Amino acid sequence: MEDGPTYGFDTLQIHAGSRPDPVTGARQTPIYQSTAYVFRDAEHAASLFNLQEVGYIYSRLTNPTVSVLQERVATLEGGVGAVCCSSGHAAQIMALFPLMSPGCNVIASTRLYGGTVTQFSQTIKRFGWSAKFVDFDDLNALENAIDDNTRAVFCESIANPGGYITDLKAISLISDKAGLPLIVDNTTATPYLCRPIEYGATLVVHSTTKYMTGNGTVTGGCVVDSGKFDWSANEKFPSLSEPEPAYHGLRFHETFGALAFTFHGIAVGLRDLGMTMNPQAAHYTLMGLETLSLRMQRHCENALKIAGWLEEQDSVEAVTYAGLKSSPYFDRVKKVCPKGAGGLFTVALKGGYDSCIKFVNALEIFSHVANLGDSRSLVIHTASTTHRQLTVDQQIAAGSAPNVVRISIGIEDSDDLIADLKQALASAK
Ligand SMILES: *Cc1c(COP(=O)(O)O)cnc(C)c1O
Repeated sequence: MEDGPTYGFDTLQIHAGSRPDPVTGARQTPIYQSTAYVFRDAEHAASLFNLQEVGYIYSRLTNPTVSVLQERVATLEGGVGAVCCSSGHAAQIMALFPLMSPGCNVIASTRLYGGTVTQFSQTIKRFGWSAKFVDFDDLNALENAIDDNTRAVFCESIANPGGYITDLKAISLISDKAGLPLIVDNTTATPYLCRPIEYGATLVVHSTTKYMTGNGTVTGGCVVDSGKFDWSANEKFPSLSEPEPAYHGLRFHETFGALAFTFHGIAVGLRDLGMTMNPQAAHYTLMGLETLSLRMQRHCENALKIAGWLEEQDSVEAVTYAGLKSSPYFDRVKKVCPKGAGGLFTVALKGGYDSCIKFVNALEIFSHVANLGDSRSLVIHTASTTHRQLTVDQQIAAGSAPNVVRISIGIEDSDDLIADLKQALASAK
């Protein structure tokens, strides 16, 4: 579909990156379950290894099924290229890897997926990297946190555990001024609700495990490059601007231009870190993407209706859904995600910790799992699970107080979901 007219989102989510198989005519993208690809001759092999020709060598780096997914996600996000990998957490490391070196830091929003907080506050220290956590509603604090060793700014569009919307435009103005790439985790919004590149993001990362695949079958991740960042403007990004010893001194930015980050991600990131997405996972995600817009519409519609209903219940203390008038982010969500506020929110129960436990146990349609963005409705009591290791003060700061339950609204009949919530609230009293 390259070189054609510009198609709408619903068309692109089905067609972008794929074409009928040239050998068999297969209309659906085949699962290329092959580790290696035959070289035409020794010269062909040499030019592939020298990055002089683009093609398939070995599936740790590239695979035709995964390539279709990469092109599709890049198109939906409005980027120039994308690298898929084994999980959302892998995508975060793949995004930071070309930017960071020992002693460098990333400025990260305090409102992040719990696993990302752990990855950034603990694990990346082993690479000599660090993260500085800042409230991204405090733009002065963000600006002041940036120092000479900062190499990236990181936030989520709709931030976990739901209800917080990042002012992407305001954040990108600050990262631009500092000459830093802005990385946006767009997992919970998906490109249907928000396209961070349009607000100035340099890179977009995804856990395709969630809404992109949409049915809780496979883990996966993706890094999309806007192609807009000048990696050679200064000395800060030598992996992209300076000669790469493992490729005979090739300079990625000079050689590949806007595709420098994508080529580096495949030729160095996947080659050496090996966080590869397998073709089966790419297949499931391609299947999910075909209905992304339809599902997101229903997720948003159901979430708005259910969040509004919950807010009116006597046993409910508060609901954090940006689509509700009571939310401090009600006006911002219309700017950042005009089509809807997503499917994720938290609800605080007046009965506290014990009520939450009873509520979660009594739900029948909702599954109690550590996941989100499934077509099924999901629930988790974060204080007794994902945030169990934190003190109560830390839990409160993370939006996961003992009386809070996180809900990921699925695409079932909203009346059935409300009936289930109603009976569970009654048992929780
Ligand atoms: C799930 C999730 C991740 C991590 O993704 P995995 O695929 O589980 O590694 C990162 N960010 C957000 C917002 C998520 O929801």
